Amino acid sequence: MATTAAPPAARRPDARNYLGGSFTNDGSRHLDVLDPSDGSVISRVPLSSAGAVDAAVRAGAAAFPAWSATTIKERVQVLYRYRSLLQEHIAELSALITQEHGKVRNEAEAEVLKAIELTEFACSLPQIVTGEVMEVSRGVECRTDRHPLGVVASIVPFNFPLMVPHWTIPNAIALGNCMVLKPSELVPLSAVRVAELLAEAGLPAGVFNVVHGTQEVVEAICDHPGIAAVSFVGSTRVAKIVYRRGTANLKRVLALGGAKNHLIVLPDADPEMTSTNVVASMSGCTGQRCMAASVMVAVGVTDHIVRKMVEHARTIVPGRNLGPVISREARERIERYITDAERAGATVLLDGRNPVVPGREGGFYVGPTILDHVRPDMAIAQEEVFGPVLAIVRAGDVDQALAVENASPYGNAASVFTESGGAARYVTERASAGMVGVNVGVPVPREPFSFGGWNDSKFGVGDITGHGSIELWTQTKKTTTKWNREAGTNWMA
Ligand code: NAD
Repeated sequence: MATTAAPPAARRPDARNYLGGSFTNDGSRHLDVLDPSDGSVISRVPLSSAGAVDAAVRAGAAAFPAWSATTIKERVQVLYRYRSLLQEHIAELSALITQEHGKVRNEAEAEVLKAIELTEFACSLPQIVTGEVMEVSRGVECRTDRHPLGVVASIVPFNFPLMVPHWTIPNAIALGNCMVLKPSELVPLSAVRVAELLAEAGLPAGVFNVVHGTQEVVEAICDHPGIAAVSFVGSTRVAKIVYRRGTANLKRVLALGGAKNHLIVLPDADPEMTSTNVVASMSGCTGQRCMAASVMVAVGVTDHIVRKMVEHARTIVPGRNLGPVISREARERIERYITDAERAGATVLLDGRNPVVPGREGGFYVGPTILDHVRPDMAIAQEEVFGPVLAIVRAGDVDQALAVENASPYGNAASVFTESGGAARYVTERASAGMVGVNVGVPVPREPFSFGGWNDSKFGVGDITGHGSIELWTQTKKTTTKWNREAGTNWMA
């Protein structure tokens, strides 16, 4: 069984910025990095200034001419080697993720495996990004090929310290760009290891750079004239800030925001599969996934499924097979949502507040929590809680359930659980979300399919992974060519 109850690991060296192939210190301002499973200080992260962003951009700009001039087949050779290094270091990277983020070991390992899959997609890009060519008039050829943008930036959240950076790093650099990564200040250590392993794989200095910090670094990225494009993954509040500021500075921006995912459970749903999948979705990674189930809309007679869910959720125990949430503030926020919902009339079927984890009393734990008879107007049904909490809203029919889902300003994911193909189709066609599932609690599209939501869950055109990433990180050049003389008399002369 997965566990977080390993002895506390030794303190790690301070995280450092990685600029032009060297690790450097940036100033004297630091934040402590905590192990959320016991609250101990495990490292420090520098609070860099705009100057570090400028140094990273200069390093990227210096590396760009040579890197973009190599062929894509040559560039992905580095990523093949990097992929092998990730594979070799699965145990070490999983332990690091567990230490800085808190997620249990099997979840951390799944994150490393997903980073490997993302890297494999980037390795396949030479087979996909082949360009187009056609004889459009006799003797006249049109050709389209893709070119990198230059120095690009990727700003990432805390909840997947390794996987989310891999949504952008391998594809952006395989496509010929140089990158500045801004990790979450809460989990900066995995990004440092990424820089080390990319260097070991042979990535030239300056192609990949890391600048640690918070708001000041993000604002400097949005403002820097040397950065051509910015991807952001995080809360909707900050996604809007980054999208507005980056586009106001005439950059290409794709900003993925928060989520409030609805699972619609119909009375004919398979009770065993539905109950285990819904609980896994709301509690996996302690509910700190942008694809986590947050509201279950139970349509008609579904009490038998709800009972099984509660039974199943009781087997998920903080400190044993459930990690902590990221911080003390996050725990307080989540518990406040539960308490307010209870006061407003919701029934607490399973209460995860204030769990005791022996030997980890300083950890930021919240147990799985299931609330029934939540009204759609309650804060817990509308706002992103980002913890292992499921709000059950009751609906008389599928249209009422869809009305609840459609009213959410978010639109990352939605799923329906049913044995009826027609009902499944009815819901997936009408759900207002970018990623929909049928009998799947976490409908993440895997490579080569692209990841991205709708509405307030994403600002900008396109998606962040898979085929969508090719549009994001390249621009097309359209070349029209004529060599033979007889073509000179046609209208394209
Ligand atoms: P966050 O928005 O607080 O932070 C994201 C990044 O923005 C971090 O690097 C942080 O340092 C920076 N930042 C924070 N405040 C800022 C400010 N005022 N100005 C500029 N930059 C700022 O998000 P988080 O708490 O790290 O991550 C959790 C959130 O991310 C959740 O809302 C979750 O749904 C979302 N998320 C979304 C997706 C998706 O694909 N849509 C994926 C993962 C996480």
